[in-house]
Amino acid sequence: MDDMIRKAAADLAASRHAVALTGAGISVESGIPPFRGKGGLWEKVDPMVFGNIETFEREPAKVWEVLIKDLKELVDQARPNDGHKGLARLEELRILKTVITQNVDGLHQMAGNTDVIEFHGNCAWQRCMDCGSRIPTAETDISRLPPRCKCNGVLRPDWVFFGESIPVNAMHRARQAAASCDLMLVVGTSAVVQPAAYMPVIAKQSNAKVIEINPQRTPLTRNVSDYLVKGPAGEVMNAIFAELDKLL
Ligand code: NAD
Repeated sequence: MDDMIRKAAADLAASRHAVALTGAGISVESGIPPFRGKGGLWEKVDPMVFGNIETFEREPAKVWEVLIKDLKELVDQARPNDGHKGLARLEELRILKTVITQNVDGLHQMAGNTDVIEFHGNCAWQRCMDCGSRIPTAETDISRLPPRCKCNGVLRPDWVFFGESIPVNAMHRARQAAASCDLMLVVGTSAVVQPAAYMPVIAKQSNAKVIEINPQRTPLTRNVSDYLVKGPAGEVMNAIFAELDKLL
């Protein structure tokens, strides 16, 4: 592990245009459980069923009750951890240019990253399924479910449900970012949800170094990634900075 930390610090020190791809794992140390791990929310609900647009269209009140309300509560309480803060510091150092995130929790922006591509949208906003109005989640009345717009349409989170396409602009920008970086940090993603998992492949094809930070191996490990730094994101990021600070 120490060797990998030193290697990652050296590669980051040499990078002029790094991009990060993050997944649910980076927010675990902030108290939000990932999809494919043990913990709270996802043991009660199957994300592939309740996170699917068809289920939401059929039973919006139920999806609000068993998924969105609890997730909203977790996100409301969550604050950036050392993993998010590390990425913000890499931006301050002008090493990291862009974060592509699959997360919907807004923690990268809260940590201070300024160019965040929200590949799967976010839960900070609700959108009316009838008139398309957007309303901040904080101003949404959830005393009766599903919450409704002034026009009486059902409100849905402005995120990408399973079964929906990635917003065109996010897709376009993410591909561009992946193709133009010299290093991609892949943090806390199981790399099984497409097309997000393809971004490191684009980076690799463009000759970027691909470094994973994750306690577990993923389908990218060895095939696409140059190496894996094994461990929780916050802990690994602090260890990398302890080395990086000596090099800058
Ligand atoms: P995932 O749940 O499929 O995989 C999580 C990954 O994080 C695993 O590889 C796991 O080994 C790793 N991990 C666990 N703890 C970690 C830690 N402390 N540090 C670093 N890595 C850790 O997540 P995914 O690949 O992002 O794909 C699932 C989908 O889940 C995404 O589309 C995302 O939108 C959604 N999701 C988002 C949130 C959020 O916004 N915080 C939470 C749950 C799910």
